[in-house]
Amino acid sequence: MKKIKFTSPKKVLFCKKCVLSNQKPVTIPEFKHTINRTGALYMNIDKDGICDACKYHAIKYKTISWSKREKELKKLLNKFRKNNGEYDCLIPGSGGKDSAFTAHILKYKYGMNPLTITWPPILYTDYGYENFKNWLEVGGFDNISFKPNPIVQKKLTKLSIQNLLHPFQTFILGQKNLAPKIAYNYGIDLIFYGESEAEYGAPIKNNASSLRAKSAYVEKNIKNIYLSGIKYSDLIKKFNFKKNDLDIYLPISEEKIKKRKKLQVHYLGYYLKWIPQENYYYSVENCGFKARPFRTQGTFQKFQSIDDKIDDLHYYTSFIKFGLGRTSHDAAKEVRNKHITLQEGKKLVEKFDGEFPDIYLNDVLKYLEITKDSFIKTCDNFRQDHLWKKTNSGWKLRHTINKTGTDD
Ligand SMILES: [Zn+2]
Repeated sequence: MKKIKFTSPKKVLFCKKCVLSNQKPVTIPEFKHTINRTGALYMNIDKDGICDACKYHAIKYKTISWSKREKELKKLLNKFRKNNGEYDCLIPGSGGKDSAFTAHILKYKYGMNPLTITWPPILYTDYGYENFKNWLEVGGFDNISFKPNPIVQKKLTKLSIQNLLHPFQTFILGQKNLAPKIAYNYGIDLIFYGESEAEYGAPIKNNASSLRAKSAYVEKNIKNIYLSGIKYSDLIKKFNFKKNDLDIYLPISEEKIKKRKKLQVHYLGYYLKWIPQENYYYSVENCGFKARPFRTQGTFQKFQSIDDKIDDLHYYTSFIKFGLGRTSHDAAKEVRNKHITLQEGKKLVEKFDGEFPDIYLNDVLKYLEITKDSFIKTCDNFRQDHLWKKTNSGWKLRHTINKTGTDD
């Protein structure tokens, strides 16, 4: 299998305000960037050395009037509200702190009648399943949990590890693309996600309050779509997948979107000040959310993305591919929210980033029928030359935020 070349900038630049670098891939709502990770964009760092995520944060705190935004939210909700017993909005989520917060506040504070939907994790952790159940049982929501064909999902997940070192692609595509399809089938015109993608450093110009469901595929171009790093037409011809096997991972078709001109996608993080720590307390109180009793490997926290056993591996592979592991992502947010200083963030990166995720690794590899040796080999195959150097004591990053890299 030919190794995919990533196109992240060859000169590594770190943001002056947080701990992230210009190697961080960001997705924008257009289909071509989410489906084929090699077409990903990378986070911009401007000439003053500040990244887009930090810039967005500065705007969020200085120039946004949150009371105005809340008025906008109420106006929007009034436009879509239904009082005839039908669902008036669709909230995708897992029962993690953010989706629990979003669903609960829209239903109980703003009086909406949401349908929640879940694309379940590939391999639930006990804590993830418990939180999912509590979300519905304590919070009180109708839910559709969609289980994709496990044989197909497993094959595609294995292929995306081998071809892209991306264990989470099927999950990301599935959960992203499910919502408009269910909304279409249930006659719901409003989809509400929690966090705005700009929080993660997506280009600021894409941070509109409302995005038409832009992720749509055009039937005549389907042959050129990539899944698991393989061309759609090859998946059908050489790998014997059926169209029906793959359709659930693709966005809604443009033909359907055209029939539903009113369908809109919004992010609650645009309307309400989005602070992960506060969403955590809110979801504990209102939806029975529980943090995991132990620290997540590769980072310092216990309450974020804890549903799927594959999650830890996903962040580990991000560390291999882009030199940024889970601590870099988590610490950057905490620094921006001023819960920790930049100096403390850097120390956390030094301590935990790239920690090998062995707690769930055996379960995951067993499920995927991949040996540990071949997984490690695949990882090494994806280390980019401008990021990694092989030394006598193993692989070392060339550049780190702490200036401890071999080339710093
Ligand atoms: Zn930054």
